This record gives sequence, structure tokens and C-alpha cells, in this order.
Amino acid sequence: MRKPIIAGNWKMYKTFDEAVEFVEAVRDKIPSEEKVDAVICAPALYLPTLTDMCVETDLAIGAQNMHFEEEGAFTGEISPKMLESIHVDYVILGHSERREYFNETDEAVNKKVRAALSHGIVPIICCGETLEEREAGKTEEKVTHQVKAALAGFTSEEVQHMVIAYEPIWAIGTGKTATADDANAVCGHIRKVVEELYGSEASENIRIQYGGSVKPENIEELLSKEHIDGALVGGASLQAESYLKLLEAGANA
Ligand code: 13P
Repeated sequence: MRKPIIAGNWKMYKTFDEAVEFVEAVRDKIPSEEKVDAVICAPALYLPTLTDMCVETDLAIGAQNMHFEEEGAFTGEISPKMLESIHVDYVILGHSERREYFNETDEAVNKKVRAALSHGIVPIICCGETLEEREAGKTEEKVTHQVKAALAGFTSEEVQHMVIAYEPIWAIGTGKTATADDANAVCGHIRKVVEELYGSEASENIRIQYGGSVKPENIEELLSKEHIDGALVGGASLQAESYLKLLEAGANA
């Protein structure tokens, strides 16, 4: 049985005080870590404070991006070594917004996955198609390409501990969710790609999330599907009450 993983992606939202207030409100109400992995991926600026606040709680803190180099002359960037030094547990890599607005390439995502593993950080690797690609029947082709590129050069053992987030771009922030069956079909396809690359142990253990307008109202149905092991949630992770409802659904899935 794969443990559900519910990750909030705050993107570029919340002031420092709002972030602290949210974590104060939820940290003692997180369902047991045995039932669900609860993660908040916060703006980089707040990470040291939030990881300090979450010591000995069941809430894990993640970053939304990082560079693949350990250190160096890369003005404005944050390295995996820095994230490790403040006890960040997860990092979102290759989010469609970073691919679209910040020229994140498949090659860079692959290097970042390697760097994350080297520093004990679990990568949440994003993939997904545009509306145009979906309408042209190219969904599987697109996600296959992205997953193969991101996962190139690892061992089966390493792959088992990764998380993949399938986020159809047309469903992000639009209120349009893929139907649970459609989302499950693509997540199942991704699992098959992992199996072809790394064998059945890797494909049975890797967790695949769905993301794109996930809310308390639709998460249960999504999580009831065979290949959907959790959710990567933007808008509905910004309010404490809504986030806790998502976690509850994860713990009961
Ligand atoms: P929404 O849940 O706001 O659609 O965002 C999804 C997303 O991009 C999470 O990474």
C-alpha cells in the first residue's frame, strides 16, 4: 500500500505573518504521519522559520524550486545544500509555471532530481500536458517524454522514493479538474512508463499525485482511484481549514 501524500504548493502567495499564522493553526492538527504525508511547499524566504516551527510535528516543509549545483556564482539561486542545512524535506521540481515562465528544461529537472536525492530531499517531479496537447491526443506522449527525461540515469532503488505529480496545465488554477477517471488513466500510464524503465518494484512504490484544481469537494473521488496516491494542491492549500480537510481525505483514503 502506498501512503497518500498531500502537498500544498503556496506558489508566490502569503506574507511572512500569514505563513506563520497558517502553520501555527495547522501543525498540531495534522493526521498521523503513519496515515498520510502532509507537506507545505512555501516561498523560500520562509523556509527556515517554518522548518523550525515544524520540528517534532507531522507537517513537513518543502521548497518550490532549487538550483542543481551545490554552491557557486549563481546570483539569486538557492542550492540543495542550503535546503538540507535548514532541514527541508521536499522540493517541487519542473512545475509547469517554472517550465513556462523561467525556462526550466527537462535537462535541468533531471539534474535537480539528482541533486535533491544527494541531499536527502524528496523530489516532487511535475509533468503534464497543455490543453492543445490534450485535444491533439498527445497527453501520453508529452508525459512520457517528461517522465523519461526527469528519471534518466537513476537506480530502481532511488526511483522508489520519488514522487511524481501529474498536473494537466489546463486544470491548474482554472477550476477545471480532470475527471477522476482521466486523471487515473494518465497516472496509470506514468506508472507503466516507470515500470518499463525501472521494473515493477519501482513502479509499485513510486507515488504519483494528481494536481490541478483539487479541493476538499473533489479530493476523495480522486484518491479513491488506483493510481492516484495523493495531490499537489495550489489554491485550496492556502486556507488552514481547507488544507486540513484535504489531509483528512488523505488519511482516510
Ligand atoms: P491549483 O490547485 O490552484 O489548481 O494549482 C495546482 C498546482 O499548480 C499545484 O502545483
